[in-house]
Amino acid sequence: MSDHLAIDGGTPVRSAPLPPSWLGAYEMGVEEEEAVLKVLREKRVFRYIAKEESETARLEKAVAEFTGRDYALAVNSGTAALICALVGLDIGPGDEVIVPGYTYIATAAAVVTVGAVPVIAEVDNSLTLDPQDFERKITGLTRAVIPVHMRGTPCRMDEICAIAKKHGIRVIEDTAQANGGKYKGKTLGGIGDVGCYSYQMSKTITAGEGGMVVTGDRLVFERILMAHDSAFGFWKPDETAIRPIPGEGFRISEVSGAIALVQMGRLRGIVERLHEAKYRIVNQIRGLAGITLQDVPDESGDASVCLMFFAPDAETANAYAKALNAEGVPCGTMFSKEIPDRHIYPNWTYVLEKRGRSSNWSPWHPSVYKGSVEYSKDMCPKTLDYLGRTIHIGLSPKLTAADSDDIARAIRKVVTALAR
Ligand SMILES: *Cc1c(COP(=O)(O)O)cnc(C)c1O
Repeated sequence: MSDHLAIDGGTPVRSAPLPPSWLGAYEMGVEEEEAVLKVLREKRVFRYIAKEESETARLEKAVAEFTGRDYALAVNSGTAALICALVGLDIGPGDEVIVPGYTYIATAAAVVTVGAVPVIAEVDNSLTLDPQDFERKITGLTRAVIPVHMRGTPCRMDEICAIAKKHGIRVIEDTAQANGGKYKGKTLGGIGDVGCYSYQMSKTITAGEGGMVVTGDRLVFERILMAHDSAFGFWKPDETAIRPIPGEGFRISEVSGAIALVQMGRLRGIVERLHEAKYRIVNQIRGLAGITLQDVPDESGDASVCLMFFAPDAETANAYAKALNAEGVPCGTMFSKEIPDRHIYPNWTYVLEKRGRSSNWSPWHPSVYKGSVEYSKDMCPKTLDYLGRTIHIGLSPKLTAADSDDIARAIRKVVTALAR
């Protein structure tokens, strides 16, 4: 009876809804309220009014400590953090930056925004940057690589950093989706030359909007500071070693800084609960015939925002996803030609069409760009194949052990019934 799939009229494994896969956003409580009210009551919504004791400065201190980096700057988004990282490393027109074909479009957009050319590389069975394809895509113009710890998964940092070092390429970690994750004991975002985080609402911890840049290099940090504010370089000219460069309007609000500081205190707990829930499920479906688990380069450091596994082909993946939803486990496949998901490179329209921010000029203009990068919707077939076969289940820190067991039971039931 219980083996009869819900999609065929059987009893679903779950009738009660699972907790929605919001993370820090659903953990907000009186602490966040108090932090915001304190800033409002003291009438200091601008962080630089009381620099030393500002909530934002305390947040930066906490993140610097957490990542083991000397320097951290809060900004108003993850995209801003990436732009600051690129400017910090003096990357601009004429330069190539390698990005994975599976990441939010913001990663590639940041490269285009600073006038550099994004070069798209494959992901492998970890659904993060394939080190071999990264190395293959290096040219004489490559200045940096942006490994993206997608969906909580730590990238293959040993291989990526070794290749980068060999070729004199800088490493910017996009940690927007993996805050609190680790790789071989090191905090994600604190491994490469610069690390970037986002505090947008869908991320592990959030202030609604916000971002963070960390680095261990003083001169890079000075450029980052100047990149985030058009006048920063003039404030304390005696304290900076470099001459001012033009910057943007990327300052964070003290209100956001205050919220993010409280959320930072929740980060470890959120990731611990996610990890426990995820691996409770994983341990019940390891070796299940009909699926292959995503290869997570360091399971103990997995930020565990979701569970992903592969079906043998896209058609089976769709069938699994449909049946799992009927069993009461909301999930989806990752890539279909009909859905223009901006996390997958064929849908990065302005990159594929080489369109910059001015009608007179773009990063691909021969006035500065001497390379020969080309784009097409099928340029990374391995990436599309993996994503087309991926089933994605969003997780929540509010999952109970019984919830996790239900998810595992639904997966076993569906896969056992439908595997060919
Ligand atoms: C969310 C996200 C960003 C951008 O962050 P925003 O705060 O939305 O600007 C960049 N990269 C990845 C991988 C993301 O998921």
